[in-house]
Amino acid sequence: MVSKTNTLAALCIANMLTACVDIEPSVRPFTVEVLAFTGNDPTTGAGNYALRPVELPALLSVDPMYDSIFRFVEQPNIDLDALSKLADLDQVLTSVRSAATYVPRLRDLDGTLVPRDLMSLQTVSAYAAFRTAADAIPEVTGLPRSAIIPASGLQVWVKPVFTQGAATTRMETNAFYLPYTDSFGLLDSSSLERRPIGALGPVVTHEFGHHLFHRSFTQADGVCDEDAPGGNYPGRFASDRGIAGINEGFADWTAFVIAGATNSLIDAFEPEVGNPGERAIDVRFAYATKFTYQTLARCTGDYYCVGTLFARSLFEAFLARSGEPSDRQQRMAASRNVFAAMVAAPLHMRERTWPRPDKACAAELSTAVDDEVVSGFLGAFVAGLPASDRASVCERFIANFGDTGFKAEFRGACL
Ligand SMILES: [Zn+2]
Repeated sequence: MVSKTNTLAALCIANMLTACVDIEPSVRPFTVEVLAFTGNDPTTGAGNYALRPVELPALLSVDPMYDSIFRFVEQPNIDLDALSKLADLDQVLTSVRSAATYVPRLRDLDGTLVPRDLMSLQTVSAYAAFRTAADAIPEVTGLPRSAIIPASGLQVWVKPVFTQGAATTRMETNAFYLPYTDSFGLLDSSSLERRPIGALGPVVTHEFGHHLFHRSFTQADGVCDEDAPGGNYPGRFASDRGIAGINEGFADWTAFVIAGATNSLIDAFEPEVGNPGERAIDVRFAYATKFTYQTLARCTGDYYCVGTLFARSLFEAFLARSGEPSDRQQRMAASRNVFAAMVAAPLHMRERTWPRPDKACAAELSTAVDDEVVSGFLGAFVAGLPASDRASVCERFIANFGDTGFKAEFRGACL
């Protein structure tokens, strides 16, 4: 592939890029070796991984790397000040658009493209997971793909360079999603990682879950309007710490639905970095029972742990309805109900009058998890579920969040 793609690249330059489209299909579909998630270990619950060749039929080009949805962007320069303000995002997107499309370093071994360095392995593995997630959108959401994927596609920033004033920084570990820019990011691995976390399918699928959250709850909540009076203004809940936690839990749930993963991060970090498995959602493994809402301080993940309780509740309710975690169709059916409830939740939350928080529309999260907002969300979420799912979900919400995180006065839809 090296010599062939070099020839293609030369032709592309000679023909001002017009030749690429005509020539590349002759080498498609690409078969690429990726780090693949192979299932949850039945005794520990940890994720198993293996290097495997996979065919990537949607991938249009590897030199550079893009398909009809995803473009991998080579080290775009990102102004952190602009990134923090919704009004300045055009500047960020202009910078991303002008950056080159990333070219992974691959070697052709008997027809399989094998990554030659860690970032190349990370990008091709991430691509496989992103594409799997995008292809699953109708099953996951019940909506056509066009409702979730913007017409201009999604960008994946490979090793972005962040600037703030005169300072330049590269971040490490591991992958991220940026709402309102339709962009994901892949960062270098660091010495904290036992595995290249940004290459792991369940982690990438978790990031895609944030995009699904953005297109459901956040979109229904609205773009924040600080000039609107009172406490029920558009975007009221997006910067709330408890809702940020729910966003994380929904992302973990998405990794379960699409990838079948219940434990994305166990064993991924060195033990001193975090407690392995504390955010696992399958509580049939003993380590995943360390904290409750009342004892959140025992969890090192801050508001992420609120989300873990949410994802666990959905998972446990799925089991209680005799769901089989390895059955993709069952996972997808449960997912569509969850997604519809996420879309409806902000509307149900507004059925009551909310106090105005100290800083409306602040870019940073509120400083503490607000028990009322968490309770309000859970009650609103249940109200958006079909009647057949409510009893099982209510039972687990009450068990996991208790009287503090799911206050009795918010349980109307459970009755
Ligand atoms: Zn996340």
